[in-house]
Amino acid sequence: MTVRVALSGELEGGYDVLVGRGLLADLPTLVSRHAPAHRYVVISDDQVERTYGRRAASDLSAPLLAFPAGEGRKTRDTWADLTDRLLAHHVGRDAVIVAVGGGVVGDVAGFVAATYLRGIPVVQVPTTMLAMIDSSIGGKTGVNTPAGKNLVGAFHQPRLVLADLATLDTLPAQQLAAGLSEAVKHGVIADADYFAFLEREQSAVSAKQDAALERVVARSVEIKAGIVSADEREAGIRAALNFGHTVGHAVESASGYSLLHGEAVAIGMAYEARLAERMGLAESGLTTRITDLLSAYRLPVVRAAANSVDQLVSKMRNDKKARAGDLRFALPRTIGAMNGGVTTGWTIPAPEALVREVLAINQ
Ligand code: NAD
Ligand code: ZN
Repeated sequence: MTVRVALSGELEGGYDVLVGRGLLADLPTLVSRHAPAHRYVVISDDQVERTYGRRAASDLSAPLLAFPAGEGRKTRDTWADLTDRLLAHHVGRDAVIVAVGGGVVGDVAGFVAATYLRGIPVVQVPTTMLAMIDSSIGGKTGVNTPAGKNLVGAFHQPRLVLADLATLDTLPAQQLAAGLSEAVKHGVIADADYFAFLEREQSAVSAKQDAALERVVARSVEIKAGIVSADEREAGIRAALNFGHTVGHAVESASGYSLLHGEAVAIGMAYEARLAERMGLAESGLTTRITDLLSAYRLPVVRAAANSVDQLVSKMRNDKKARAGDLRFALPRTIGAMNGGVTTGWTIPAPEALVREVLAINQ
C-alpha cells in the first residue's frame, strides 16, 4: 500500500510511504522512480549492514557507509565522519542518500543529507517498527549532544519512505515492543478503532503475523503522515504526537538511556494519562486501559524508583519543548481524541504540584 505525505513547503507535492512485504527486492526500480539520481550512497549501521545494507548497496551499485550501531553513536562525530567519507568518495550534488536501518540511522543519515553540500535528497528505508511508523516520516533529522537528545538537527523531508515488512522478521522482540509503544500512542491520540484492534489482536501482532503487522504499520503510517501533512513544522497539532514524551524523555534520560525510547514513552504515557485524569481532562479509566495494553505488549508502565521526582521535574524543565514557566503536556481526553484545539493549542499547562504528586507513584 501507498500512503501520501502531502506537503506544501520544501517539497511541493509531498512524498510516498510504501508499505509491503518484499519491497526491497524492487529497490532500484522504486528508488529511480521516486528519487532519480546518477549516483546513490547507502548509509547503514554495522548490524543492519550485514542483513540488508550490503544487499541494498550492491543492488544500487552504491558505496556503503556504515557506522557502529546504537544510540550512543548518534553524534556529531558520526556526522563528521560520514560527511568526510562522502567527500572522499567525491559524492556530488547529483547523488541521493539511501538510509537503511532503524531510527538512529535515519536520523543521522537524514541530517547528513540535510547538510552535505547544503542538502541532497534522502530516501528512508526503515528496518525497525519504530522507524517505520515514526522516525522515518516527518522529516525530523539530527544528532544527540552531551546536553541532550536531538538538540542539533534540521527538517529534511525524504523523497520516499520504503517500509519492507520482511525486515521485521529479524527484529528482536524487545525492539518490536518498543516500536509498538508509538503505535499505542497513535491509537490514543487519533483512532479508537485502531486502539481496539491493538487490544484484540495483541497476540497476533506480537507474534509478527503478516496481516496484523501490515495493518499496524499501515494505520500508524497513515496517522503520522496525516498529522505531519497538517503541520509540517510542528507549530500546532503535531504536538499531539508528543503524548507520553514529556515524562518519557525525562525517564529516558534519567535511565542513562538504558531504557529504549519506546519503553520510556510507555512509562511516559502511563503518567501523562494519569495526570490528565487527575486534572479532570480525561474520562476515568483511561489510564488503566492504556497501561493494560502496554503491559500486554510487555512494555514498562512504572518509572524506576531510583530516580527522584526532583530529578525528573528538572529534566522536564530542560526539555527543549518546555516553554519558560510552566510544564506543558499533550493530554488525551479519551481513547482516540486529544484535549486542545486550533484556538487553545494542543499542549496544556499543568500545576507543578500535581505533576509531582503523579510522578511520586513508583509502583
Ligand atoms: P536503532 O536505530 O538504534 O535500532 C535498534 C537496534 O536494532 C540497533 O541495534 C539496530 O542495529 C538494530 N536493527 C535495526 N533494524 C533491525 C532489523 N531489521 N533486524 C535486527 N536488528 C535491527 O533504534 P530505533 O528504535 O529504530 O530508533 C530510535 C531512534 O529514533 C532514536 O534516536 C530516536 O531519537 C529516533 N526517533 C526519531 C524520530 C524522528 O521524528 N526523527 C521519531 C522517533 C524516534
Ligand atoms: Zn517517540
